[in-house]
Amino acid sequence: MIVTFLGTGTSQGIPVIGCRCNVCRSLDFRDKRLRTSIHVGIENKSFIIDSGPDFRQQVLRERISSLDALIFTHEHKDHTAGMDDVRSFNFLQNKNMPVYGTHKVLEQLKKEFEYAFTEVKYPGVPLIDLIEITNTPFQIDGIRFLPIEVMHHKIPVFGYRINNFSYITDANFISAREMEKLKGSEIIVLDALQKTEHISHFTLDQALEILEKLKPKQAYLIHLSHRMGLHQEVENELPAGVSLAYDGLKIEIK
Ligand SMILES: [Zn+2]
Ligand SMILES: [Zn+2]
Ligand SMILES: [Zn+2]
Repeated sequence: MIVTFLGTGTSQGIPVIGCRCNVCRSLDFRDKRLRTSIHVGIENKSFIIDSGPDFRQQVLRERISSLDALIFTHEHKDHTAGMDDVRSFNFLQNKNMPVYGTHKVLEQLKKEFEYAFTEVKYPGVPLIDLIEITNTPFQIDGIRFLPIEVMHHKIPVFGYRINNFSYITDANFISAREMEKLKGSEIIVLDALQKTEHISHFTLDQALEILEKLKPKQAYLIHLSHRMGLHQEVENELPAGVSLAYDGLKIEIK
């Protein structure tokens, strides 16, 4: 299984439009972060979790030429805005794109992309099959996904565990019951926005505290704000086994 970080930035991305801070002006490629999303390649299947506003350029950058399903974590725009571009895969693969999400997420997609769900469709709109999921394991093409429901201020967000890999974005609370599902993961990807307190995301210290309890072999932090600091500087401060993810990073999970 190969996971590629398509984007690791928070909702505005880095650089932030108009910002002159040292992170936004950094020349280190790891300080340039598109909106958060990953690609999962497993057993010749190709999945993407979330399609934010940068979906098209992420897919082009990673030369992803097939997609078996798109799976959503939650309905925020920085995770959904790019869904229209799955139509390229409709043309390539000559079939509808299966899209997975909770009832609430699917309702939001129907509103945001209303033109794609009308009875009579304008030629060329994305062709989508919506598949509703709940907080129980499900399979896509024989691959098992275990949802992990976390809280993002007041909205529930789904993280996913695939084998020994767990992926959690946009969270500031994980219940004891859902923490159980994460136990034993070798690799954990977790939301850590910045160092200072935030209403809907874990801070760096809060994320490290959770990882300390779960003790994965390796953890990667995502959904980073420019306020987190320069990639290299923050990386030097992190404990062993924890890294900041960066756009384009690929990890192999056995
Ligand atoms: Zn987000
Ligand atoms: Zn900045
Ligand atoms: Zn969000």
